Amino acid sequence: MAEECTHDCGSCGQDCSQRDMHKKPHELSNIKKVIGIVSGKGGVGKSLTTAMLAVTARRAGFKTAVMDADITGPSIPKMFGIREKATGSEMGIFPVQSRTGVEVMSMNLLLENEGDPVIWRGPVIAGAVLQFWTDVVWNDVDYMFVDMPPGTGDVPLSIYQSIPLDGIVVVTTPQDLVSMIVRKAAVMAKKMDIPILGVVENMSYAVCPDCGKKIEIFGKSRAEELAAEFGAACAVRVPFDAALTQCADGGNIEEFAGDYMKELFAALR
Ligand code: ADP
Ligand code: MG
Repeated sequence: MAEECTHDCGSCGQDCSQRDMHKKPHELSNIKKVIGIVSGKGGVGKSLTTAMLAVTARRAGFKTAVMDADITGPSIPKMFGIREKATGSEMGIFPVQSRTGVEVMSMNLLLENEGDPVIWRGPVIAGAVLQFWTDVVWNDVDYMFVDMPPGTGDVPLSIYQSIPLDGIVVVTTPQDLVSMIVRKAAVMAKKMDIPILGVVENMSYAVCPDCGKKIEIFGKSRAEELAAEFGAACAVRVPFDAALTQCADGGNIEEFAGDYMKELFAALR
């Protein structure tokens, strides 16, 4: 059996079912818990959920990190208002700290201009994510949240195989089309024996500014139903919230006054 997996299953006949393919993090990294934020689909609020979970963990006093594994659609630096670039030495690559001390690594911290596209094929993208795990000096981290790329393709597959995730949080919205696709991502994680720790139903409802009534714009909530189906201990509903978009788009997610992830983070702990 080859010592180092090339992740090219097409040209390798090995049976990997019993093999631990997890990669070791950088020798100076000490990462206690790693949680992936997953959704089959883009645009459902995966990055926002990742950012909010990190803010909640940091507010609770934990050493917190975010690995932005969405190489072609990196959103985390913008939400945290990080404009500096990551630096490196022969020792490795160093993450950038947010204003409140969340350690962040993202493709956008390595590109000269944040608008530059990354036009790479799948295996190269997967290689870059794995380098975020093996070559970044994360130091001491209590909770690392990984903003996973959408879908069930090459990149999420190699992340599941190579990074020792303690579990995932599945993000969805109350629409049939979305839950059908999100279910695929959840089934993929289950097949790889990764526990689903929570379900976030984003854009679950809106609150009328005049009368305070909850309006279920996309229809009835399925959060509890999906959590039961996935065997997740916790389901949370996040409303449409203009203040949240404003903070996220303005780079001030750490200043958002609300805390929609409190219950989920308590469950993760
Ligand atoms: P994904 O990572 O799944 O592609 P994002 O987290 O980037 O999605 O969210 C897409 C956009 O929608 C962002 O501009 C974000 O601020 C906005 N958004 C997501 N969830 C909400 C919400 N509950 N209320 C208001 N805006 C939201
Ligand atoms: Mg995103």
